[in-house]
Amino acid sequence: MRVRSIRARLTLWYTGIVTATLLLLGGATYGLLVYSLGHELDVSLQGVAQAMSQQYQRGATGFAPSEIDELFRRFFDFSPWDRYFDFLEPSGRPDPRRPFAPAGRLPLSTEALQNASRGLATFETVKGLGRYPVRVLTMPVVEGGRVVHLVQVGMSLGSIYLTRNRFLLGMAVVVPMGLLLAAGGGWLLARRALRPVERIREAAHRISAERLTERLQETGTGDELDRLAKTLNEMLGRLDEAFNQIRRFSADASHELQTPLTILRGELEVALRAPRSPQEYRQVLQSALEEIDRIASLTDGLLLLARADAGVLRMDRQPVDLADLVADAYGRVKVLADSRSVHLALGRVEPVPIRGDYDRLERLLLNLLDNGIKYTEPGGRVTLSLEGEGEWAALRVADTGIGLSPEERERIFQPFYRTAEAHSRGEGGHGLGLAIARSIAEAHGGKIQVESAPGRGSTFTVLLPKDS
Ligand code: ADP
Repeated sequence: MRVRSIRARLTLWYTGIVTATLLLLGGATYGLLVYSLGHELDVSLQGVAQAMSQQYQRGATGFAPSEIDELFRRFFDFSPWDRYFDFLEPSGRPDPRRPFAPAGRLPLSTEALQNASRGLATFETVKGLGRYPVRVLTMPVVEGGRVVHLVQVGMSLGSIYLTRNRFLLGMAVVVPMGLLLAAGGGWLLARRALRPVERIREAAHRISAERLTERLQETGTGDELDRLAKTLNEMLGRLDEAFNQIRRFSADASHELQTPLTILRGELEVALRAPRSPQEYRQVLQSALEEIDRIASLTDGLLLLARADAGVLRMDRQPVDLADLVADAYGRVKVLADSRSVHLALGRVEPVPIRGDYDRLERLLLNLLDNGIKYTEPGGRVTLSLEGEGEWAALRVADTGIGLSPEERERIFQPFYRTAEAHSRGEGGHGLGLAIARSIAEAHGGKIQVESAPGRGSTFTVLLPKDS
């Protein structure tokens, strides 16, 4: 099953980790407890056995059962029940001189007997003597290098089992309780940590294309969620700007299309109002054709920009010598320049081969030259040059015209943007020329740069990657 909510997943993870920690810690503690209890018992059994055998050797005539209890109490810190104690002969038979009747016979294994004959003590756990198994120590008492008798001390494992069971019972209660607490705490913690995310989600949900000016609330704490809100806000800003641009573009495009259509309609209506001479009809049709040309050039430009934006601008990439392109473009605008008394000059022109679409590149260059001539006073100069600069081919159109302020420079590549000066001069462009030029340059992997100062002229540089 896939858990969809982060909160549930976090809680599950958290509880899982706490469970693993509790089980690991509990297991380790349990192991340590069992080991140390067993070890303690063995050490104490050894202590009792030694004390008894010493006393026996010192010639103590006998032990009252209370003395044995006292000894066990000394070593075990409590009064043991089911304690066992016996003296045996080295052969394993009960020592007839033993001073008391033992509580019960302890079994003697062959292994313990063999060990004893070699002077070694043996610890064993024996079942079947009572309710609980009994830990038995068989220890030889050596005198003058000879085993004189054996001491057997036994102690029920009942208290150890009881302590162990109590611990397990405690764990059985504490672990589920811990888990319950961890799950509850984890759930609350996750809820608290994720509350800002939920707020961001709700706010983001409210923001639609029509309300892109709204912003998510930033807490200013600088934490991850604050940074997330900030990043989303920046993205909203960019989206808002993009939407505005699209809206402006649509409004400008409709407006630009409306103007020639209105003129066309007006002219045709006037022409139809009364009978006209063939000469007058001719004039009207001529003017209508001009308007239709305007509309066609506008829609053509819009189509090119839309395709470039969508990344589907078709390019016929062929080897092109830009020097040829420069010569062609120069020839085509020379007449226009002359008609406006602008001096069109050719600067340095190096043959630079590139791969590109000749027609589109020519359109780009004609747009720049056309602008240079349009925005330069009679008597001014427009210079066209071509140079190789590193891995780039640099096409340059420099004019001595009206120039551009820094703010204008920022905006001239936006579709339909025209400077106030261009408006007041009544130069007839739509403001699409530079946007188209930039799209063509970028579709070739190049770029356009502009340097300009108001009243001093402008230089447009097109950088295109050389054909290597
Ligand atoms: P337009 O058809 O109006 O010339 P463009 O996109 O080619 O459209 O240019 C956008 C605007 O940039 C122009 O309206 C003009 O204000 C400014 N501009 C372009 N080229 C020059 C230039 N060489 N000198 C001064 N201003 C220019």
